[in-house]
Amino acid sequence: MGLFGGRKTVFVDADILVIGGGMAGCGATYESRYWGRDLKIVCVEKANIERSGAVAQGLYAINCYMGMQWGENQPEDHVRYARNDLMGLVREDLGYDIARHVDSTVHKFEEWGLPIMRDPKTGRYQREGKWQIMIHGESYKPIVAEAARKAATEVYNRIMVTHLLMDKSKVNRVAGAVGFNVRTGDFYVFRAKAVIVGAGGASHIFKPRAVGEGMGRTWYAPWSSASAYALPIQVGAKMTQMENRIVLTRFKDGYGPVGAYFLHLKTYTQNGYGEEYESKWYNHTKELVGDYIDRHPVPTCLRNHAFIEEMKAGRGPIRMVTKEAFQDPHKETVGWENFLGMTIGQAVVWASQNIDPKHTNPELTTSEPYVMGSHATCSGAWASGPEDYAPAEYQWGYNRMMTVDGLFGAGDTIGGTAHKFSSGSFTEGRIAAKAAVKYVNDLGKAQPQVSEQEYRDLEKVIFQPLENYRVGRNEIVAGTVSPSYLLPIHGLQRLEKIMDEYVGGISANYVTNSMLLDRGLELLGMLKEDMNHVGAEDLHQLQRTWELHHRLLASESVTHHTLFRKETRWPGYYYRGDHMKLDDQNWHCFTLSRYDRNAGKWEMEKAPVYHIID
Ligand SMILES: Cc1cc2nc3c(=O)[nH]c(=O)nc-3n(C[C@H](O)[C@H](O)[C@H](O)COP(=O)(O)OP(=O)(O)OC[C@H]3O[C@@H](n4cnc5c(N)ncnc54)[C@H](O)[C@@H]3O)c2cc1C
Repeated sequence: MGLFGGRKTVFVDADILVIGGGMAGCGATYESRYWGRDLKIVCVEKANIERSGAVAQGLYAINCYMGMQWGENQPEDHVRYARNDLMGLVREDLGYDIARHVDSTVHKFEEWGLPIMRDPKTGRYQREGKWQIMIHGESYKPIVAEAARKAATEVYNRIMVTHLLMDKSKVNRVAGAVGFNVRTGDFYVFRAKAVIVGAGGASHIFKPRAVGEGMGRTWYAPWSSASAYALPIQVGAKMTQMENRIVLTRFKDGYGPVGAYFLHLKTYTQNGYGEEYESKWYNHTKELVGDYIDRHPVPTCLRNHAFIEEMKAGRGPIRMVTKEAFQDPHKETVGWENFLGMTIGQAVVWASQNIDPKHTNPELTTSEPYVMGSHATCSGAWASGPEDYAPAEYQWGYNRMMTVDGLFGAGDTIGGTAHKFSSGSFTEGRIAAKAAVKYVNDLGKAQPQVSEQEYRDLEKVIFQPLENYRVGRNEIVAGTVSPSYLLPIHGLQRLEKIMDEYVGGISANYVTNSMLLDRGLELLGMLKEDMNHVGAEDLHQLQRTWELHHRLLASESVTHHTLFRKETRWPGYYYRGDHMKLDDQNWHCFTLSRYDRNAGKWEMEKAPVYHIID
């Protein structure tokens, strides 16, 4: 009997199981109840939905709001905007579907108590930019979580979901999920008719700029551990655009956002010599991407591109000129509040480094790459589109259902739809839930069954790292080094190093090529073999182990996608050194992958991009 021999197995039956209680998961839980009054709706979350996910700390702005009630923007405008920003490649059907419903989501947030700032002159919501509205958002997540809690039959906090379960009689149909309680160590078996994955994006798959004592300081939340991708990938769901990792220009070391500074404070950037530099790179960029550089607004990746090139040319650091704006006491207050409301870490970093933006222009940096599906990027699962809007080729079932029956997704989980942000993710959760309820109702008696063999086998695999540690711990040779196991932190650092050096991370200036990617895949394969020998000292480390498994699988996917797309579609996010130009003739398409877990092989294919909106 191992260390946790007294472990209980807890069975939970659900009609709809929502994995991850972040923005998308709360939206899915709330809406499942609306359409499925008598259904059993269960939400399972590895933290506590009260303060979990990327929005945990609160936000200062809701970044996706059309303002249709005031004729400010129409859903079509948002699709054009996202398409332009992603260099032409978005699922317009999915994006339109979110945009047409997102305003109603925001109105609900206000009804539930979220304070939204209003323009005193017009009475409309206060805009920060064309799509953003300003909120007093410290309690954004608790407010949204309350709605989900009231809607759910049960919420299970502190359960890390590690695997999905498949139906024992029907191939390619989901039947539930398994995981463990990170506090008690109990094993959980969820049996469900439909599953909605809303498990967030992925940080820490590429080596972060802040390492050692600062390694928790990343832009995307450190607890965003790629489960949203790994869970569907493990069961053969197709993924799309996994190469479209995102790199952010942010204030150095604290990742404070720059948008409000540009928009409100009218600050600007300059190189180490105090020169404007962006315009210098215009011709160079035009050579790489053609007319995309002339679009308005300039795509996010291309704005990074000039920054990266200027740094490579040895003219850094790039600074935000704040000294002028901060002479105005009102702007100074706005500048500080912007961080105190959502990125307190940046204010703390400035204080610790003697930076007062009134007297010193703070440095900017480009971040390490992240994988996600809701920001200015669109990695994630390939999903069926809305019945009334999606081209036939994008419809194989229910809205937001992946290529696995009964498996739905929303938020960072779903690919092809950039710029949904917090409000769009919640909205997509609602859309997925409505479809999932219909799916469950349509199932009738043909309900999925889990296989006892499958979940008992998984139980052994899930808890094995505790056993590895228990057996090997007396052989430690020095400090934490053991000949018998590796610790999750060691595996994580190895993963980050491989991705950084071979797949286009910071130390390679975001550049890679087919030779590097091939070698990267070999090294990822070796890490995968070694994952059988991870030792977990306690339940916390067991959670770290499974987060690492998920990050590793997502990383493999990113690497295969990057290898498959033989062009540089998004300079500033990454570069294929062997295919430096954008190639619309051959690559104006989506990339799709499917992982066959039995064979351990990845299949890649192209899918057409349909431009539905002119
Ligand atoms: C720094 C930062 C700033 C941002 N600023 C803004 C902004 O100003 N305005 C805006 O509108 N949006 C903003 N966003 C974007 C917004 O936060 C995301 O778009 C949104 O949170 C995505 O929703 P999601 O549900 O997909 O993921 P999340 O909200 O991250 O939720 C994922 C949930 O899944 C849980 N989970 C993960 N893995 C597992 C597992 N294996 N088992 C069980 N549970 C699991 C997580 O704990 C989490 O609760 C920002 C994001 C970041 C990181």
